[in-house]
Amino acid sequence: MFKRVLIANRGEIALRIIRACRELGVEAVCVYSSADKGGPWLEQADRTICIGPGPSKESYLKIERIIAAAEVSHAEAIHPGYGFLSENAHFAEVCRASGFEFIGPSPEAMNALGDKVNCKRLARQTGTPVFPGTEDAIEDIDEAVKVAAEIEYPVIVKARAGGGGRGMRIARDEAELRVGIDAARQEAAAAFGDGGVYVEKFLENARHFEVQTMGDKHGHAVHLYERDCSSQRRHQKLIEEAPAPGVDPKKRDRVCESAATLIREAKYSGAATVEFLMDRHQNFYMLEVNTRVQVEHPVTEMITGVDIVKTGIRVAAGEELPFTQKDIHINGHAIEVRINAEDPDRGFMPQAGLIETYAAPGGPGVRLDSHARAGYRIPPNYDSMIGKLIVHAPDRATCIERLKGALREFKIGPVKTTIPLHLKLLDHPDFRAGSHDIHYVERWLKETAVAAKA
Ligand code: ADP
Repeated sequence: MFKRVLIANRGEIALRIIRACRELGVEAVCVYSSADKGGPWLEQADRTICIGPGPSKESYLKIERIIAAAEVSHAEAIHPGYGFLSENAHFAEVCRASGFEFIGPSPEAMNALGDKVNCKRLARQTGTPVFPGTEDAIEDIDEAVKVAAEIEYPVIVKARAGGGGRGMRIARDEAELRVGIDAARQEAAAAFGDGGVYVEKFLENARHFEVQTMGDKHGHAVHLYERDCSSQRRHQKLIEEAPAPGVDPKKRDRVCESAATLIREAKYSGAATVEFLMDRHQNFYMLEVNTRVQVEHPVTEMITGVDIVKTGIRVAAGEELPFTQKDIHINGHAIEVRINAEDPDRGFMPQAGLIETYAAPGGPGVRLDSHARAGYRIPPNYDSMIGKLIVHAPDRATCIERLKGALREFKIGPVKTTIPLHLKLLDHPDFRAGSHDIHYVERWLKETAVAAKA
């Protein structure tokens, strides 16, 4: 095992990794920006190193400063968390070249799965279900038009290097497709430095279904079942749960096993999530693979008993996965809500500033992963998520009630948060029935805005 790990991240995920290190007897070194000076999670680290000013480009994204911090602190490995440099294959390569273990996949596996066109090709070969569409990035627009006619409109144009929902265009006929390809190419070139785009079938009313997988450096790979993350606003997940409600167990097993096969074939080590959309007949279509630990990993930890972060560190250190597929079982139900410092009544405006009151919920099955507390000043520079409330219960109905109770106990002020919004969403009839799709939150927000004006 490593003696010392450097954490190239901040906030709740830095704290989550520190906790995992502690249990493994590993020292944790945390880098931070001057905007995060005094951040509560830093008190829990064995050592902290300031790597620059507030803007991420000057600190958390600055590769040479992170490597220098790892050198001066004599760390053996670097944990990227999620966001920032976590899916940057160049960073993983620099870590390796500088003699540090990157806690995550090899740059080769990251490239094989992180590029959407490569990933889809590998998925087709390994039997993971994908959307019908162009086999490769589009060279010839007429060829793309032909494919679109075959798979039938609507279709979606997507960037091979895509992320954060950028570089995507929905097309409902040939004229829209021709315009969409041009627009998506330009947007992708500007956002990712890679204008490669492809076309696939667009699914109207889907659910978001993602499979947690883990691999090691000895050729093993397993899945830890799935999460449903259909509660989204602007492609940002708000509520995540495991298992996905109402899915046929045989179909679930088949798609989860196909995800494990995909990452095994990619020689993947660490935690990866294979994301799918599911139609109302429970057909699955792969969206992409996230080659890192995800925000919503705790719901899977709660239902499987596997510590994903600790296991990720252990496999990076060269250990074999400490479990096989037959050791993994679903126990009960878990739901996570993201506590964002945003004002849902004012267009989800981010809320920087001082948290004056903070009363955390508790009780059986309640887990809170957060770096916030009374006296913490939220800096304006980063993501608005200040924590995640996760609840575990024997069944989904109990889990929803338990989560509502925990949300009512949770008091944060004067900064506004998504707590009141979650209380409403958990009572939405579609959510309660488990029949919600990825658009229900936005539909409901629009309806309530109209009702408030009337
Ligand atoms: P990104 O990497 O930018 O997040 P994804 O491939 O995950 O891109 O797609 C982002 C979102 O766009 C999905 O969560 C889904 O809501 C929508 N989307 C993408 N592809 C399709 C598709 N083929 N049909 C319907 N919706 C899609």
